[in-house]
Amino acid sequence: MLLQIGSINTFYGPSQAIHGVSFGVGNREVVALLGRNGAGKSTTLRSIMGLNPVASGRIAFDGQDISRHSPQAISRLGITLVPETRDPFVLLTVKENIMLGYRPGSPYTLDRLMDLFPLLAELLKKKGGELSGGQQQMMVMARGLAMGPRVLLLDEPSQGLAPIMVKAVANVLKQLKGEDLTLLLVEQNLNMALEIADRVVVLENGSVADTFTSEEGRANPGRLEQYLAVH
Ligand code: ATP
Repeated sequence: MLLQIGSINTFYGPSQAIHGVSFGVGNREVVALLGRNGAGKSTTLRSIMGLNPVASGRIAFDGQDISRHSPQAISRLGITLVPETRDPFVLLTVKENIMLGYRPGSPYTLDRLMDLFPLLAELLKKKGGELSGGQQQMMVMARGLAMGPRVLLLDEPSQGLAPIMVKAVANVLKQLKGEDLTLLLVEQNLNMALEIADRVVVLENGSVADTFTSEEGRANPGRLEQYLAVH
């Protein structure tokens, strides 16, 4: 496993959000992390990134324990988080927003990114704040890729987007599959997750409730829906 999460526990002050979560993500695998609101998906990503450090447990990247590393050190090792909040620099141009992430040696040059995100090619001179939600999502994904990560953590890329933009984001993710990249994707859109991921990990109340291949998930939708249905 390229990324191995081992029995991690994460707290917000006295309140425990993650309870002994363990799962792995193989090199070039796409794993979707699913679960209801508050299940602990974002916190898991933030723990991997060192933004909500684990209280105990181990997170290993390529065999190296990173669970006490700073977010900057984790980023330098090759893990990038594209957060749910998107956070564009509203006064910088789209090109500046993207190239802010660029690291020499990254295979995702501006040209390559424009092939992946043709919608952005015509917007490069616009300000980040002038874009629609979907365009901003494309921009922050492009920025994350420009860093040349080995592992891309994506927190709800389809959240709040118009259906046509959800499709566009899904298309980009499908193109990224098969490249030399490992994806851990938090998604509320079940169909999109099953379409893109190789494997699904379901969180419930901060613990892993189930894990199965996307093929198994598609063949047995009831298995997933029981975790996602609102009680
Ligand atoms: P969502 O889809 O709503 O983002 P999630 O599965 O990503 O849900 P988390 O955001 O990781 O869930 O939240 C896990 C738990 O931690 C929830 O009980 C939530 O209320 C709590 N939590 C999240 N952020 C904070 C915070 N900053 N301070 C205190 N508790 C928090």
